[in-house]
Amino acid sequence: METDTITAISTPIGEGAIAIVRLSGPEAIKIANSLFRGKDLEQVDSHTIQYGKIIDPETNEIAEEVMVSIMRAPKTFTREDVVEINCHGGMVSINRILEIILNRGARLAEPGEFTKRAFLHGRIDLSQAEAVMDLIRAKTDKAMSVALKQMDGRLSALIQRLRQELLETVAHVEVNIDYPEYDDVEEMSHEMMRVKTKEVFHEIEKLLEVAKQGKILREGLATAIIGRPNVGKSSLMNTLVQENKAIVTEVPGTTRDIIEEYVNVRGVPLRLVDTAGIRETEDIVEKIGVERSRKVLKESDLILFVLNNNEELTLEDEKLFEAVQGLEYIVIINKTDLPAKLDLESVRKLSEGKPIITTSLIEEEGVDELEKAIAQTFFTGEIDSGDLTYVSNVRHIQLLKQAKQALADAEASLEMAMPLDIIQIDITRTWELLGEIIGDTASDSLIDQLFSQFCLGK
Ligand code: GDP
Ligand code: ZN
Repeated sequence: METDTITAISTPIGEGAIAIVRLSGPEAIKIANSLFRGKDLEQVDSHTIQYGKIIDPETNEIAEEVMVSIMRAPKTFTREDVVEINCHGGMVSINRILEIILNRGARLAEPGEFTKRAFLHGRIDLSQAEAVMDLIRAKTDKAMSVALKQMDGRLSALIQRLRQELLETVAHVEVNIDYPEYDDVEEMSHEMMRVKTKEVFHEIEKLLEVAKQGKILREGLATAIIGRPNVGKSSLMNTLVQENKAIVTEVPGTTRDIIEEYVNVRGVPLRLVDTAGIRETEDIVEKIGVERSRKVLKESDLILFVLNNNEELTLEDEKLFEAVQGLEYIVIINKTDLPAKLDLESVRKLSEGKPIITTSLIEEEGVDELEKAIAQTFFTGEIDSGDLTYVSNVRHIQLLKQAKQALADAEASLEMAMPLDIIQIDITRTWELLGEIIGDTASDSLIDQLFSQFCLGK
């Protein structure tokens, strides 16, 4: 286990005027004290904040006025001694403080290393650690509260309960096999095992159902704006970006560094990605045909299909209707300030009961209704309840799917009345897969990989 002292700039979520340098490790307080002018930090009480100045011990120059929090192990995030230096200056002075600390013998933390230490010291489990990562990346308030809930350990608690059920089942079979003479232990029957696996199977299915919504909250609703040239796609995009706070992010961990644009529509993050022509698509059908455009469009969670109120429906429009058939879309009839030439009845027939919204983007009419419709396609009554445990992590989803498959295998074997000690291999496998979610059976390399995704300083 690491025993050196690490440090990093750890600017809090919601970035204010305050910047924080964090230290963790056995030397944290000693190092902080050596560059602090104020009270003797090695003498002050734990979990107190001290006002003072940072000096460069080499030049005796005062770098910055600071507030220093002293937190002694084990009641800290990493369960090591932790010091947080709060500084009001901008990045320039905080970088200078970091440099001084590094000169005093601390090591620059790897991305996610603080959280990794918290995990390694048993302070948090793996799913909680991942929730911290989600929190760092959370794009909207709703996504944030999902991450917070997971950090609370709700997912962990549920997974642990399911694992316990499975473990008891396996143990029961073991006892039957090893101690057949124990009459007071009821013989595990195929029926009993079926009930148990069904129960856990159902719980995993439920988790996977909300996983999709969780993923969308975290990553944004991949949104395409389609329509013939000149119907108002760019105008719609601009309206959405102007009316709602746009968040521009670089996707971390990708070499492509795609710039994505997020707009937050009533708590639903729309992700307008400029890849595969998904962001704004006008001549997609023309160019690549209905079938292939369907494939491209299928990658989006939501399609905003714009028509022109001032023109009759064209063959191209009909092709677009064909391309979006069965997908999630909203029809927008734009330019209602101009005389109506579009036949609303035909549009109704073609649009399979999907929402039809009329707008005049130039006069800013109908935008409210559109935003309502967007939010509604996403929120089923359920997800608003705030009562669900969301699974929003790709790795968790993969593991849950595998666990579900392992249980399905067990059920198939039960159908065939295979011996219970064979069936319990699948059950043990399910138990292991669920364990990986909370880090119980996760291998070292997996853990390293996970924590390296963290932002620096967390
Ligand atoms: P795109 O080609 O689909 O991206 O369409 P644009 O957003 O570039 O708009 C094409 C033209 O239609 C521009 O001149 C816009 O100002 C105009 N336009 C957009 N929305 C409206 C509207 O609601 N009413 C009217 N009269 N013109 C509009
Ligand atoms: Zn355009």
